[in-house]
Amino acid sequence: MKVLLASSEVHPYSKTGGLADMVGALAKALASAGLQVGVITPLYKGILENFPDMQRLDWAVDLPLGTRRVRAQIFRREWTPGLTVTFVHQPELFHRAELYQEKGIDYPDNAERFIFFSKAVAHVARYLPNPPELVHVHDWQAGLVPLMIRHQRDRAGWGPPAPKTCLTIHNLAYQGVFPARWYGATNLPLDYFRPDGVEFYGSMNCLKAALLYADTITTVSPRYAREILTEAFGCGLDGVLRRRRPSVVGILNGVDYTEWRTEGNPFLPHAFTAHDLRGKDAAKLALQRELGLPPARTTPLFGNISRLVDQKGSDLLLAALEEMLATDIQFVLLGSGSPALEKAFQDLSRRHAEKVAVRIGYDHPLSHRIEAGCDFFLMPSRFEPCGLNQMYSLHYGTIPIVRATGGLDDSVIDLSEDLELANGIKFHECSTRALAKAIRKALALYQEPDLLHKYRENAMAADFSWDRTAAAYVEVYRQTLAQHS
Ligand code: ADP
Repeated sequence: MKVLLASSEVHPYSKTGGLADMVGALAKALASAGLQVGVITPLYKGILENFPDMQRLDWAVDLPLGTRRVRAQIFRREWTPGLTVTFVHQPELFHRAELYQEKGIDYPDNAERFIFFSKAVAHVARYLPNPPELVHVHDWQAGLVPLMIRHQRDRAGWGPPAPKTCLTIHNLAYQGVFPARWYGATNLPLDYFRPDGVEFYGSMNCLKAALLYADTITTVSPRYAREILTEAFGCGLDGVLRRRRPSVVGILNGVDYTEWRTEGNPFLPHAFTAHDLRGKDAAKLALQRELGLPPARTTPLFGNISRLVDQKGSDLLLAALEEMLATDIQFVLLGSGSPALEKAFQDLSRRHAEKVAVRIGYDHPLSHRIEAGCDFFLMPSRFEPCGLNQMYSLHYGTIPIVRATGGLDDSVIDLSEDLELANGIKFHECSTRALAKAIRKALALYQEPDLLHKYRENAMAADFSWDRTAAAYVEVYRQTLAQHS
C-alpha cells in the first residue's frame, strides 16, 4: 500500500502540538508495518539547518495562487527505510518565526499559505514517480487537498487512477475559516463555494471542504468521534458530520515509546521502571531544584503542560489552585498561549513562590522532566480530541487527573470504572469545584502509599503502542481503497 501523509507539522521537523507527534509516529509505524509511506510538509525556517542530509531535488513546482504564480522547490529526506519526507520550500510563505502565529495573532496570509500547501500536496501526489494510492490529510491546513484531487480527477483529468483520500480531524475547533475573498486563491470554480461545499456562513471553511470531499474521515479517539456529532462539540459542523456518519471513525492515538521512555532517555536525569521507582523520586527532587522550588520528597507535586487556551481549562486550573494552595502541595506549569493566562499564572507563582513554578514558552526536554518528576498531572480540558500528555504521564508513573471527555475518557481508568485497573482520577462537571474535588482525591490517594503504588503500576502497564493504532489506520485505508467512487 502506498500512502502519502500531508500535514502542516511533523515531529521532529516542526511542532506546535499533538498533531506533529501523531503524524510523525504514524508515519514511522506504518513504514515498519511494511507500507510505502511518504510525508509531505512545509519546509519551515530552521529545518534545513537541523537536517543537513536533506536532498534538494531537481523539481520546482510552479502553481497559480489566485492572480499570481508561485514557485516552490521540492526537498526530500529518507527518514527510515520505506519512509521519505517531502518538503515544500517556499520561503516567502513558510520562513517565519513561528508556524501559524506570533504573540497570539495569526499570520494574516494563513489562507494563502495553506491553500498553496494544499495545491503543492495535490500536485506532488499526482506527479511523484511512485504516486500514492491514498492521500491522508490532517486538519484544516491540508483540508482542501481532497477537493483539489477530486476536482482534477473529475474535471481536469488526473491520468492514472486518482488517489483516494482520508481526513483525520485532530481538533474540530480549528477549521481554517477565512473571508470569502480568499477563495480566489484556490483557483477552483465558484460552484464549489456553496452551502453544501466550501462555503460556511458566507466565509470559506477549509475543514468543511475536507469533511465533504474526503473519502473517509477519522478522528483521534472513539469518544471524540461520538462527541463531534453533537451540537455541543460539533463547532457548527456537527450537521455536516452527521451526514457523513458512517464514514467517521475514532482511533485513539498511540504513544511513541521509543521517544517517551523512562530508561535511556537523554532528557531525564534518572532512569526508573515500574519495579524500581527510586529514579522517579530522584527526578522529582531534580525537577523541584531545576524550577526553584524547595526540594521536598513528601510534598505532592502537580504538573501541567499545555497551550494556555480556553479548551484546556487553564482558567479552571487557576481558580482551583487558588483554593488548593492552602494545603501542602506544589505545582509546576509549562505552557504558552493567551497573554492574560500567561500573566495570571506568573502572578500566581510570584504570590506562592515556595509552591508554584511557572515556565512560559515551549521546552521539549523540560516537558519530559515534568512528566517524570510530578506525582500528578492535571488536564481539566473542556474538550480534548485525544490528548497525549495523559498517556505520557501514565507511562512515567505520574497519575493523570482528567476531565472525562474525548480521548481523556478513553485512555484513563478511574476507580469507579475498575477497582483493579484504576490508573487515574476522572471528574465530569466542567467546574472549579469538581476539579478541586479531584485534587482532594489525589491528596487522599497520596496518603495511601500502597494504593498509590498500585495506581502507578497500573499506569505504567497501560499500553498505547503505535502498532495497534497503525493497524487500525491500515484497516481504514484498506476499506477506503475498496470504496467505489
Ligand atoms: P494539543 O495538540 O491540543 O496541544 P496534545 O495533548 O494532543 O494537545 O499534545 C500536546 C503536545 O505538545 C504534547 O506532546 C505536549 O507535551 C506538547 N507541549 C504542549 N505545550 C508544550 C510546551 N510549552 N513545551 C513543550 N511541549 C509542549
